[in-house]
Amino acid sequence: MNRILQQVISFPHMGNYHVPITNLLNHLFKNHIVLPAPPITKRTLELGSRYSPEFVCVPFKYNLGNYIEALENGANVLIQAGGGCRFGYYAEIQELILRDLGYDFRFIKLFGNKLNYYKLYRLSRTLGSDVSYPQFLYYALLTKKMIEKIDVIEEYIRENIGFETQENSFEHLQEEFLNELIKVNTIKSLNKTYKKYSGLLQSLPADKPGDCLKVGIVGELYTLMEPYSNYFIEKELAKNKIQVSRFITVSFILFEKPRLKKRILKETGGYLEFEIGADGTDSVAKSTMLAKKGYDGIIHIKPFGCTPEVNAMPMLQNIGKDYKIRYFISVLIPRHPRPA
Ligand code: SF4
Repeated sequence: MNRILQQVISFPHMGNYHVPITNLLNHLFKNHIVLPAPPITKRTLELGSRYSPEFVCVPFKYNLGNYIEALENGANVLIQAGGGCRFGYYAEIQELILRDLGYDFRFIKLFGNKLNYYKLYRLSRTLGSDVSYPQFLYYALLTKKMIEKIDVIEEYIRENIGFETQENSFEHLQEEFLNELIKVNTIKSLNKTYKKYSGLLQSLPADKPGDCLKVGIVGELYTLMEPYSNYFIEKELAKNKIQVSRFITVSFILFEKPRLKKRILKETGGYLEFEIGADGTDSVAKSTMLAKKGYDGIIHIKPFGCTPEVNAMPMLQNIGKDYKIRYFISVLIPRHPRPA
């Protein structure tokens, strides 16, 4: 194959979701290279902060840093998604910045608020995929199911890892599970892998008291789901023998939220009459639910520049007071100024 014509496809990181995305792209683009951005480090953030608009919201900077490092590694096709807040403008601005920096690449903006499988299929064909539409739908379904399985496994890990009795036993199994998922080709083998690791995880020794401290984490999606960006808060809480619950996941955002919008507003328990954008409404709804369930603490994570999460703050403070939440902590992820 002519290396010059070969596409090297890359995308930014968020938690462990590079695994299902890599799996999907490998199936769709067998003749091309799929190269996830290198894992996030201090350098990623420095690069992103150096070349981003100073006051843009924080996830933009992480994504931009991922792109620069991916381009340095040889990527020539970059993929970005989009959403209902400023996320919807990320792609255009990031493309302009990267072109100004002199990189030569193709930039693909995937979707706005709604998943349209046929449009995605057409797009994949223009990028050189040779799978048929039924095959495309099968791999899309495999990816959806893989994301759901990852989210279920990670929910179990979050709630129990703080109580493991063999150091790093949960993390080792999680790593093995993710490594196996990369190679999964069929829904049947996905289910088999899931069943195996779900059973192995549940059989790991853990010493979890019934009255352990329970903390729920709410807030902006990226900084909730990308551990580097929230200073590995879930890990830190677990080290202190705390059960951590988080309900914002990709399964929730992509597959559940679109059909539950009205219900989510109701679940805010009267604290909100109208939606406040992005994940702000979810933060209020989930905090109400955590408060009703008697959680000891709620941590609200919001990155600098995130209007929807700032909008949610007064309601969250009221929930904290009304339900007498023992620990209500609001965490602002700083704007990460341009390095000198
Ligand atoms: S949710 Fe907030 S931080 Fe995230 S992209 Fe939208 S405005 Fe930016």
